[in-house]
Amino acid sequence: MASIFTKIIQGSIPCYKVAETDDFLAFLDINPNAKGHTLCIPKKEVDKLFDLDPETYTGLMEFSRKVALALEKAVPCKRIGMSVIGLEVPHVHVHLIPLNHMEDIRFVQKVALTPEEFQALAETIAKHYRG
Ligand code: 5GP
Repeated sequence: MASIFTKIIQGSIPCYKVAETDDFLAFLDINPNAKGHTLCIPKKEVDKLFDLDPETYTGLMEFSRKVALALEKAVPCKRIGMSVIGLEVPHVHVHLIPLNHMEDIRFVQKVALTPEEFQALAETIAKHYRG
């Protein structure tokens, strides 16, 4: 069965899109640790990061770097943190999280945003993205 992220890629589940290439997609996490929490995924559905073929792995890191640079410009923060977990969704995803405190990367505190806030945030990050 297709993962929830494959359904997002296919458009059958909506997302707040930040950036897209032929092989990768970035969109806002629906339950963010901090404002701007973004997920970068390969369109190829693979469960675990280190099972990716080397080209997709490197491509995902390069794509995530470009998204992180856009995120850092769009959201005031001390720096962008990166984490790969995958215990909930078995489709590789890189968490990019604007950090101000250690708590922001601990997946315990969550922030609530309205649909309008999600949309405006995605558009602001997208404006800063340089492919
Ligand atoms: P992990 O698999 O790394 O433990 O966590 C999965 C992440 O995906 C969580 O931060 C969760 O909020 C996010 N997530 C789960 N389902 C959806 C979804 O349908 N849309 C979006 N945008 N994010 C999701």
